[in-house]
Amino acid sequence: MSNFNIETNCIRGGYTPQNGEPRQIPIVQSTTFKYDTSEDMAKLFDLEASGYFYTRLQNPTNDYAAAKICKLEGGSAAMLTSSGQAASFFSIFNIASAGDHVVCSSCIYGGTYNLFSVTMKRMGIDFTFISPECTDEEFNSAFKENTKAVFAETIANPALTVLDIERFANFAHAHGVPLIVDNTFATPINCRPFEWGADIVVHSTTKYMDGHSALVGGCIVDSGKFDWTKYPDKFPGLCTPDESYHGITYTERFGLEGAYITKATAQLMRDLGSIQSPQNAYLLNLSLESLHVRMKRHCENGLAVAKFLSNHPKVESVKYCDLEGDKYHELAKKYLKNGSCGVVSFEIKGTREDAEKIMKKLKLAIIATHVADAQTCCLHPASSTHRQMSDDELSRAGISPKTIRFSCGLENSADIIADLAQALED
Ligand SMILES: *Cc1c(COP(=O)(O)O)cnc(C)c1O
Repeated sequence: MSNFNIETNCIRGGYTPQNGEPRQIPIVQSTTFKYDTSEDMAKLFDLEASGYFYTRLQNPTNDYAAAKICKLEGGSAAMLTSSGQAASFFSIFNIASAGDHVVCSSCIYGGTYNLFSVTMKRMGIDFTFISPECTDEEFNSAFKENTKAVFAETIANPALTVLDIERFANFAHAHGVPLIVDNTFATPINCRPFEWGADIVVHSTTKYMDGHSALVGGCIVDSGKFDWTKYPDKFPGLCTPDESYHGITYTERFGLEGAYITKATAQLMRDLGSIQSPQNAYLLNLSLESLHVRMKRHCENGLAVAKFLSNHPKVESVKYCDLEGDKYHELAKKYLKNGSCGVVSFEIKGTREDAEKIMKKLKLAIIATHVADAQTCCLHPASSTHRQMSDDELSRAGISPKTIRFSCGLENSADIIADLAQALED
């Protein structure tokens, strides 16, 4: 099952039932797994044999869904996590510890920014945030002796900037570290960062991958291409013996293809336990079967809404990279050939109160702290997610008091546009 197109892999990837086995992946609702001898079990604990023994570390249902996402991204190994936040945390904590440093794009999800700049800083990991449009000089000077990774988002939430993945990968590799890309908004349907040099991909599967507001989840995928063994002093966790597993060395035992994900499972899941529930992994896998169909429709609706808004006299500006003339249109043509996503952000002419009034008048679009759902939803950042910020602080975060973030769902685009039209009327 290796040469199918991505649409086919959405449905058939990750799980191949044998004669008489269920068409759908089984939900293995069990904390533990039974063995005949303690010797069998000991081999699992020493990572000498592969198998399941406790669902805090690994579960077959999760692994079917992870294998599908791995296939879609073109990776070598993948794991699910309980949330996108857990995926971002694990992706870095797996290769960086107290005293280390990470270079990160300043255009990232607010939750990730908080995780990095507050919580992980308290753990002793320092982040330098750079504008994705910084000069080569600024980029180079962000790196330090102890830098362990570069982190960025394909399409940033909520800034909607598009990442120049090749540029970021080149800088990361020139400094001997991997590029980690959060590919949540584009999904592998619209962009596969490994094809442009990224080394590790993370997802909040809560967004388009689920797409029905049914579950919170995350995923980490490894390309298997970053050669940790070239920098054994920089990545001792992968290149020197792990005493908590009787001295195995991950890169030696599992190769470049398996070392990173095996270490994250064996150490981080074991100790921190941010595992996806098998029920949620089942729902995720079910949703992934239609991801390619849904993404196409989200993009069609996004473009139709962006065009309508950009021609509306009450609208000051629209951000949507598939729109001709958008600041990121050229990058989108290179990295997002089939479209970007369904999220459009726009600023209205008038005041903060006018923006709130328009939100109140919307009937089809629901107000929700969410994006990437089958239902169209929207948010006024200045009165919700960014409520604590002054107008000055808002502007530094790339948002104005008149910005509305509008996530186009799967409804008929004429209905979505009619709703916006009536809300924008006097
Ligand atoms: C939502 C989101 C996250 C966090 O994911 P959760 O599943 O909510 O923990 C991370 N990155 C991006 C781009 C997101 O949109």
